[in-house]
Amino acid sequence: MTREKPILYIVVPCFNEEEALPQSHGRLSQLMDNMIDQDAISVDSKLLYVDDGSRDDTWEIIERLAAEGGRVAGVKLACNSGHQNALMAGLAAAVEHCDITVSIDADLQDDISVIPTMVERYKAGCDIVFGVRRERKTDTWFKRTTATMFYGLMRRLGVSTIENHADFRLMSRRAVLALLDYKERNLFIRGIVTKLGYKTDCVYYDRSARIAGESKYPLKKMVNFAIDGITSFSVRPVRLVMQVGLLFLLIALAMLIYVLCAYFMGRAVSGWPSIILSIWLVGAFVLIGLGIIGEYVGKIYTEVKNRPRYNIDTTVGLDMK
Ligand code: UDP
Ligand code: MG
Repeated sequence: MTREKPILYIVVPCFNEEEALPQSHGRLSQLMDNMIDQDAISVDSKLLYVDDGSRDDTWEIIERLAAEGGRVAGVKLACNSGHQNALMAGLAAAVEHCDITVSIDADLQDDISVIPTMVERYKAGCDIVFGVRRERKTDTWFKRTTATMFYGLMRRLGVSTIENHADFRLMSRRAVLALLDYKERNLFIRGIVTKLGYKTDCVYYDRSARIAGESKYPLKKMVNFAIDGITSFSVRPVRLVMQVGLLFLLIALAMLIYVLCAYFMGRAVSGWPSIILSIWLVGAFVLIGLGIIGEYVGKIYTEVKNRPRYNIDTTVGLDMK
């Protein structure tokens, strides 16, 4: 049920963004006005800023922008809850009022001029449109390499993510509702959206430098985010323990043959065969044991997350709300 003039909410998480916000707001509201003038979106569209427990004047700025009229809404989180949670809060608040959401960072490193294209793709039947960076020349060498390594690792671990897509994406109302059904606390939204199963598309853009202020993702937050991404979607690290255990068992068997040969050829120092064999065997059993326990912990983990099992696209002959 795609509307000709959908209500668009642009959701912007902001953490200590007093330097970037006024500029970003200027550009976003300009874009929104243009889209409304061109009849691409409804006049009820809004910019929704989520203040993620900022310690500077971010919330005062949001309140001022909302008071000045214009199409501004704000949500203030009680304390800093992290980018992903702030985004979820914004999407949950927006979904009650809109047909589509676009999420974007407050520093506008992502090119907002592709938003009209995203909306067109939505009208053409897509539920999720990913903004994908073509190149990241403006990012530091460090950020670029760590990001490439991270995506490579994710791919090898079997986690489906869209490479070079951050959290700049359009989602239809039903896609957001489906996302909100994922109840887990360790959020890695960009890993979940590829699992929703709705029709998706990508639009490409060049990433620019931060509009103002500094990155709100220091190394510690980045590493935590990466670990969350991996451990929320993959139990392969646990399987690895099991595999190493089996490998140790093989080595133990090889050692057994070697030790027996040495023993019968009279070349074994007394005491050595039993010690060397126990080291490998016990090591193997400990690792296999850990692997088995890990499998169960992995199962408990996925159960506890209480994720939805499926997500219905359409039905016929049934009245769906
Ligand atoms: N952000 C947030 N809470 C945090 C950290 C960041 O809401 O705890 C927001 C931040 O204001 C920005 C977005 O998340 O809108 C991405 O942060 P940033 O641009 O600093 O990350 P980078 O682009 O450097 O990875
Ligand atoms: Mg940024």
